[in-house]
Amino acid sequence: MAEPPAPGGPTEEDWAAAVAAVRSLPAGGRVLLICHVNPDGDALGSMLGFGLGLCRLGVRQLQATFPGPPEVPEPFRALPGLDLLVPAAQAIADPDLVLCFDAASESRLGDLVDRLDRAPAIVLDHHASNTRFGGIHLVDPAAAATSVVAERLLTRLGVPLDQEIAECLYVALATDTGSFRFDMTTPAVHEMAARLLATGIRPGEISRRIFDTRPFGAIRLYGEVLSRTTLDPAAAGGHGMVWTYATQDDLARHGQRPYVLEPLIDSVRCAAEADVSCVVKQTGTREWAVSMRSKGAVDVSRVAVALGGGGHRLAAGFTGRGTAHEVAAAIRDELDTALIDPEVPGQAGV
Ligand code: AMP
Ligand code: MN
Ligand code: MN
Repeated sequence: MAEPPAPGGPTEEDWAAAVAAVRSLPAGGRVLLICHVNPDGDALGSMLGFGLGLCRLGVRQLQATFPGPPEVPEPFRALPGLDLLVPAAQAIADPDLVLCFDAASESRLGDLVDRLDRAPAIVLDHHASNTRFGGIHLVDPAAAATSVVAERLLTRLGVPLDQEIAECLYVALATDTGSFRFDMTTPAVHEMAARLLATGIRPGEISRRIFDTRPFGAIRLYGEVLSRTTLDPAAAGGHGMVWTYATQDDLARHGQRPYVLEPLIDSVRCAAEADVSCVVKQTGTREWAVSMRSKGAVDVSRVAVALGGGGHRLAAGFTGRGTAHEVAAAIRDELDTALIDPEVPGQAGV
């Protein structure tokens, strides 16, 4: 069933340009798929699901990659299509077509960004903060995940869903909707989930692997990191901020990889007394990957953009510098000037 075009989403011309770019690939044409650094379920799932779709169309010279260390987080190591992945250093230098997944800006593509100048580039994304880089924009801020855009393009290319493609797109959709809990979980999202499930994929098994399986050491680590969570009820004009941090030493002491820190934000954001929640995760000597969430009073993507990052209104991030407390102070300063939505009551009164 055709959906009306979303405001700010791809136009018919954009879709036609993307379909034409794929269809006009020469025989033996080389395709490079790129997703954002430190890939999550949507980045990997939409990229690999679409890559498998291109395989079904007969594309043989096909690589998928992402910048940074070529390490796939354990929960995603059973995704179909992983054999398409190559380390960024080995990615085709002169592809005939490039597709980017779930990256709001070129900075999220690291050194791979030079490939965009060498071939037609189709950008599949759903971030409102997308900077419109690349040539063909399939950017739909109303889409719950980049995999929604990927499924639409596959449909237009006449690729039927099979279990492998569906599993990838399902992981992406489930990740970005918080397992179908967030507001962007529209009827269309459930309809897409129904199409994916109709291929016979097992949602229980997939969810257990992606969301509910972590090493024992990670559980002990969570205890420590959560025990140092701080509540600042006066932050964000009284809407409150709750935050914690995890250092590389924390990871080392518990023998854990950085990916295990990703679910922590979902525990921290439970605090009823705060609209804004943050987890500050050390990535280098004075460098931190920051995850921010809002319950609605604050547009955290504005805060993230002001601090050099990006994201969505209710979920955003950036790279922080200094000590963890300096990063938190920078967020607090930015929150003081951030746009506060007067329609949303302060969390302290809820
Ligand atoms: P996360 O907290 O990592 O789940 O990220 C939440 C949202 O913020 C996602 O949509 C990311 O794309 C975006 N985001 C996170 N970190 C950055 C960053 N350093 N630069 C731009 N966007 C980011
Ligand atoms: Mn992502
Ligand atoms: Mn996404």
